[in-house]
Amino acid sequence: MPIANRSAVANSLLAALPRKECQHLIDDLEQVALTYGEVLYEPAEKIKYVYFPNDSIVSLLTLVDQHQALEVGLVGREGMVGIPLTLEIAMSSVRALVQGTGTAMRMKAAHVIKELRQSHALQRELHRYTYSLMAQITQTAACNRFHVVEARLARWLLMTHDRMQTNQFRLTQEFLSHMLGVRRVGVTKAARTLQQDKLISYSRGNITILDRDGLERASCSCYEIVKDMHDGA
Ligand SMILES: [Zn+2]
Repeated sequence: MPIANRSAVANSLLAALPRKECQHLIDDLEQVALTYGEVLYEPAEKIKYVYFPNDSIVSLLTLVDQHQALEVGLVGREGMVGIPLTLEIAMSSVRALVQGTGTAMRMKAAHVIKELRQSHALQRELHRYTYSLMAQITQTAACNRFHVVEARLARWLLMTHDRMQTNQFRLTQEFLSHMLGVRRVGVTKAARTLQQDKLISYSRGNITILDRDGLERASCSCYEIVKDMHDGA
């Protein structure tokens, strides 16, 4: 679906561009629906399109020993999926998996490279975002090693909440176990703890956030650190 005008752009990275540049890019962008569970890239695969999520969320996963997956980054309306292209590398190092159904704007890889060479504003926005995603990935590496599952789950729910802008989202235990790198039993235990504290309700793969402030208190410090780095970038 082509995009008629700039007001349809909910992605904040695109919306931050000067009006003229954003309007110009719109000709190369196409709106697509992304569905929960859809794989956009696999590791070592060529990147054909980049995606600027509007209300969708995409999880970046690293695969270990072919079968185990661990989330290393989360991309929503604040960013772009396909960051290697900002370095003119058209190959993905991660699996990009749609974790929240919604829409995104996509652009052909060749167009992104061309536009980046022409537009300083786009370059600046994408470089800032690349830095912020690197910070998120770095912090996540430490978080996965040092912080307990309940705190990581709380952090992860806050990050999802920020991007989805809705209090309720679908999330199976299998998904969560990949996101957090723990077995399902560990996910169940952590979700139960947050539920007992009345911070969330969780049933049949649907999570509802009941107490956002409480969740912030239950999260590890990584949530604030990454948010501050993004806001300050
Ligand atoms: Zn942490």
